[in-house]
Amino acid sequence: MNKVLEIKHCNKSFGENEVLKDISLSVTEGQVVSIIGPSGSGKSTLLRCATMLETMDGGDLIYLGDYAAKADAQGKAVYAAKETLQGIKKHFGLVFQNFNLFPHYSVMKNITEPPILIGKRKKEEIYAEARELLKKMGLADKENAYPCELSGGQQQRVSIARALAMKPKILFFDEPTSALDPELTGEILKVIKDLAAEHMTMVIVTHEMSFARDVSDHIIFMDGGVIVEEGEPEQVINHPQQERTKAFLSRFQ
Ligand code: ADP
Ligand code: MG
Repeated sequence: MNKVLEIKHCNKSFGENEVLKDISLSVTEGQVVSIIGPSGSGKSTLLRCATMLETMDGGDLIYLGDYAAKADAQGKAVYAAKETLQGIKKHFGLVFQNFNLFPHYSVMKNITEPPILIGKRKKEEIYAEARELLKKMGLADKENAYPCELSGGQQQRVSIARALAMKPKILFFDEPTSALDPELTGEILKVIKDLAAEHMTMVIVTHEMSFARDVSDHIIFMDGGVIVEEGEPEQVINHPQQERTKAFLSRFQ
């Protein structure tokens, strides 16, 4: 199976605070990996390192066999040249907890601006695809709306459409429903489930345990900057082996 993402021996500290300690994971094409764990365990930092919003101190970061960062003899992460990184950045998209839409751009502009800036495809084609994506997200009538005119669930669907408009090879979600009222959570989880059914490769940080069990091929439980336990959803969620995993999951029952 084609490995879309590989992270090897990732270390990351903020000052004295060692936030990620020797984290390794890989994601193959079409795979859905969920990351669960208590607040402060390093989940967002791991996604931010994977998407190069933060630099790793140590380790390798590899997309489709291309090194974004490679550990030197001392283990220090050495990043590739800017042009290489720019090429690699086209492979992934990130959906944030708080949507991160541009408030002064219409829905259409939020979705089409990034691919237009890259300038590889014709504008008409980008607009046509954006309309398809909006239809798929149930937002066909919202292309001229502004983010403030939309519900949180609708805004999050726009930000998913925006990520998809870049045709990523892998999509990252950082707690995509945790800023939403409970009644809006389901619509986002359904969109992600539909993407999984289309074999979109995804890494999802979530506190929605039953969703994680249903949608994932692999679950990683993190605590204190380390991977404590990982495996198939049924094993990790229903039959955890580690005490820390059991204690964490008991909070959701
Ligand atoms: P999680 O997403 O699992 O809740 P985070 O990755 O956000 O965890 O945070 C892990 C730890 O890293 C926390 O102790 C947090 O305070 C710290 N941290 C995260 N980002 C920064 C930052 N930019 N500067 C300093 N400390 C940070
Ligand atoms: Mg977080």
